[in-house]
Parts: sequence; structure tokens; C-alpha cells
Amino acid sequence: MKKVFSVIICISLTLTLCSCGRGLKRFEKTYSDVFDTISSVVAYDTDGDSFEKHCDELHKLLLKYNNLFDIYNSHDGITCLKDINEKAGKSPVKASPEIIDMLTFGKKAYKITGGTVNICMGSVLKIWHDYREEGTRVPEMSILKKAAEHCDISDLVIDEKNSTVYFADSEMSLDVGAIAKGYAAQKAKEFAQENLWSSALINLGGNIATFGIKPGGAQWTVQIENPDPRATQALTTMGVVDKSVVTSGDYQRFYEVDGKRYCHIIDPKTLMPADNFSSVSIICEDSAIADALSTALFVLPKDEGEGILNSIEGAKAIWVDKDYKIL
Ligand code: ADP
Ligand code: MG
Repeated sequence: MKKVFSVIICISLTLTLCSCGRGLKRFEKTYSDVFDTISSVVAYDTDGDSFEKHCDELHKLLLKYNNLFDIYNSHDGITCLKDINEKAGKSPVKASPEIIDMLTFGKKAYKITGGTVNICMGSVLKIWHDYREEGTRVPEMSILKKAAEHCDISDLVIDEKNSTVYFADSEMSLDVGAIAKGYAAQKAKEFAQENLWSSALINLGGNIATFGIKPGGAQWTVQIENPDPRATQALTTMGVVDKSVVTSGDYQRFYEVDGKRYCHIIDPKTLMPADNFSSVSIICEDSAIADALSTALFVLPKDEGEGILNSIEGAKAIWVDKDYKIL
């Protein structure tokens, strides 16, 4: 009797799941006003109105993170990273729990990557940013070395109890470019999974976070861009379940001097742009970790990157070398 009963429960559960999925349709929306890039969300929802309403909630969350993590502009009514960079060298600055949590993750990213991803490298990264914008010269090593004297992550003092941030070195500054999109994608995924949809793919400028499977039972498919400009096809296409896929590459943000390419990812050891690979993609559960790892493995030689990769459960990587060969 007990067995029959459990069989009936199983059948009715299956029916409920099927009827949930059957009514859902695929919708897609694109945003160009967050994280200085193109972002999109694909999700299964009951109808267009419901999808739009859900997207509004997600968009609000993305805008919040976009404004808080901004190092170039201030925003009314909030203390963002630009404000912190300007004031935290003088005295502790009150910061939102979101900033405290993200900076705490920044310290974790430093630890995981053996110092290769350092959010306190703002002084060095600003020099490269300005020279990249100008586009004609490479900075002198002497000015890079001087800036590198102000990148010690232990000078970033986070007081979780009082929710404040302080720089023990007044010339230090933060640049969270290596982790912000992945961190926000992870938070967006967690929020969407809890409140909006049972299955979705969120793409913040190439930082992809997915959850659930499609109503028909299929996995989300993610394409990895081919860094080879002559390529006519994606590097690879893969099915993923509850995974994030993040790529760091030298083919989107770079400049050239005397025929040599200088990309936007800087090796903290040499203070020069990383030059080992064309791209590195990470596949793992947590999008913030994937973002940090993709930057770190782009900088490091492959064997050192593999060591870091092995410390993260379930994480996988695809390296593409300078000759566009997949490793
Ligand atoms: P993208 O932002 O293009 O997706 P990444 O996630 O690799 O690429 O982050 C690159 C950005 O991170 C740079 O634009 C810069 O702001 C910052 N950055 C570059 N090198 C480092 C580094 N070694 N540690 C921390 N941040 C870095
Ligand atoms: Mg990154």
C-alpha cells in the first residue's frame, strides 16, 4: 500500500512539474546601461508582461551594483567606489553592506590567486588606463614602479562591524574591474533564482551565469568567442547546468605601439600587460570566482594557473595561446 501511495505521489509530482514547464515561453532582454558593456538576460516566463516585470527587478539590482562599484563617477544618494577612493585615505568611510561584501571578496580573490588579482592596484591600473586612452605611448617603468609602492592589499582595512573602509596608505586606490562583473552576475543569478524564474541565463558583458534547465529539459548552451579575428565560428559551444562561464582576453580592450599589442590585464609582478595567451575561459559554479580566475589564469603561466584551478572544486579552464591554439 505504502509503495502504491509513493508511486502516486511521484506521478502527480511529475505532472505538476510538466504543467509548470509547458506554459513557459522564452524571452530575452538586452541592457546597455550597466558595467559599460552590453548585457542580456534570457529566461522562461509565463508571458511578456510577467517577464518585463521580472526584468525590471533584475535591472534595478544591476543598476545598484553598477553605481556602487563605479570608480569614475559619483552617484546621488550613495557612497560609491569613486567616493571611497577619494576619502578612505584620510579616515574610515561608511560603506554599504554590498561594497563591504564585494571588497571582502576582493581580498579572497587575492588569496585564491596568490596575489595575481589585486583590487588595490588602482594606482598602477590608472596609469595603464590613461596611456591606453591616449593610445600612442607605453608608460616608463619608473612611474609604474612608483605607483606599485601603493598596492599593498593589507592597507585596505575593512571594518565589517562598523561597515567602514579605510586605506592605511593614503595613496592607495581600488580598481575592481577584474571581479565586479562576475560578482554582480553571481548576485543577480542568486536574486533571480530565488525571486524571478526557475531557469535563466544572465550575461553581463561576457560574464555568463546560468541556473536551471530549460522547460523541455535541455541545458543552457554557452558559446565561447574565438579570439582569432579570422575565425568564422565560435571557439566552442557547451551545455551547462547551474554553471558560470567567464572569459578574459586580449582581443577587446587593447592598444598597439610599434606593432605590439598591450592589453588591459596587468601582471602585478612585471607591472606590464599579460602576454601569455589570447584568451582564458573559466567554467565553474560561482560567477565571481570565475571572473577572478579568468583574470588570474590569463596572467599566469599555464602550470601555475592549473595549480590555482585545482584548488577550486569543479572549476575548469580553456586556454587559447597566442597562435589561437586551444590548450
Ligand atoms: P574584462 O573586464 O574585460 O571582462 P577582466 O575580468 O580580466 O576583463 O578584468 C580586467 C580589468 O581588471 C582591467 O580593465 C582592470 O580594471 C582590472 N585589472 C587588470 N589587471 C588586474 C590585476 N592583475 N588585478 C586586479 N585587477 C586587474
Ligand atoms: Mg576577471
